Amino acid sequence: MTERERTEDYIVSLESGHGSLCDEIARTAREEGVPIIRPGTAALLKTLVTAVQPSAILEVGTAIGYSALLMAQAMPEACVITTIEKYEKRIPQARENFKRAGEERRIHLIEGDAGDILQKLEGPYEFIFMDAAKGQYLNWLPQVLRLLSPGGMLMSDNILQEGTVLESRFSVERRDRTIHSRMREYLYCLKHHPDLTTAIVPIGDGVAISVKKGCI
Ligand code: SAH
Ligand code: MG
Repeated sequence: MTERERTEDYIVSLESGHGSLCDEIARTAREEGVPIIRPGTAALLKTLVTAVQPSAILEVGTAIGYSALLMAQAMPEACVITTIEKYEKRIPQARENFKRAGEERRIHLIEGDAGDILQKLEGPYEFIFMDAAKGQYLNWLPQVLRLLSPGGMLMSDNILQEGTVLESRFSVERRDRTIHSRMREYLYCLKHHPDLTTAIVPIGDGVAISVKKGCI
């Protein structure tokens, strides 16, 4: 095992779950091969939502609702989550899970392609969790920044792409090259954008945490 794997294992070993319903949803997701947020990243997500105390959250990539329910555990009572998903098979599962958690009033699922939906939303959102098609993050960034409040936080998941983002373009399989270069460009934009302060955190599959200048 590499030191990186041992560190990750240790971080995960400190976790004690998120309640029986969320833990069951996580198990179902793993069994069905749904790519939900990893344990260390989940703890970071809840910690950041607790710190920001948003009144509105936007999530891109609902899957079966696991990360939305984790955020709901950490957000203020009056906060509302808008979450976007395009995969028909997962939408009824997510809705059912929101209902089981008694969260159907605080979590609004919008069905469709995030590229279209982001353009129609008005916001603002104090917290945005980006966790959908990794090759699209860069294209969606202008809309996401329009929707993010001054002082608001953007958390982007899977930015290290199982470590491939570190590799040279030429050692990456041809079919993965577009996504590889787009993710690198996305990280470059986050790090050099005049309105953002960004930290890259190598937890789970890698997250970028960006704060938009200004005050909430
Ligand atoms: N946030 C979830 C996991 C999301 S997995 C959790 O941690 O519990 C990523 C999801 O994004 C998938 O379900 C996929 O169908 C969805 N997705 C991918 N591209 C999308 C797009 N263009 N518009 C909307 N959803 C998209
Ligand atoms: Mg993810």
